[in-house]
Amino acid sequence: MTTKQAYKTTYISLPGNKNITSKAQHNKSIKVTPETKCSFCPGTICCTYFTEQVDTPRSKKDFDHLLWQLSHANTQLYKDEEGWFLLVNNKCTHLQSNGQCGIYETRPQVCRDYSNDFCESDEPATKHFELFFDGYDALVKYCKKRYKNWDKRFKT
Ligand code: SF4
Ligand code: SF4
Repeated sequence: MTTKQAYKTTYISLPGNKNITSKAQHNKSIKVTPETKCSFCPGTICCTYFTEQVDTPRSKKDFDHLLWQLSHANTQLYKDEEGWFLLVNNKCTHLQSNGQCGIYETRPQVCRDYSNDFCESDEPATKHFELFFDGYDALVKYCKKRYKNWDKRFKT
């Protein structure tokens, strides 16, 4: 599984069949099938964040820009085999408390395209991260290691 399959990128990956019924969560007799799988997903994982691919950072300026982005709440950064991605851990405003999509009939195309064949309920996307920065401090630490003169980058 690639992280693109597991993590929503530009290409956000979202469930396409989430209006099935949350009742399945309470009915253990219901078989888990592609049609009912999302109803069994605790927290409706893939509707609780999105990711956006960013250019591979190559300079101190690039990393400084990423630090600005990671200064914002609930924003993280990772790198996998496909590149670098911002991970924004804010749940979709249409996600209802029962796990259903509040705009199911008119949900965006990315939600329709997403397949739950093998998703985060099967394997955490983090398993494929090569680098992960959970916030500003983690990226600063990386920058200081990568650039010996990192702290002097604003000095002329
Ligand atoms: S993570 Fe998988 S099972 Fe859970 S809601 Fe999304 S597509 Fe469905
Ligand atoms: S629009 Fe619906 S399916 Fe798409 S992320 Fe939001 S709650 Fe999930």
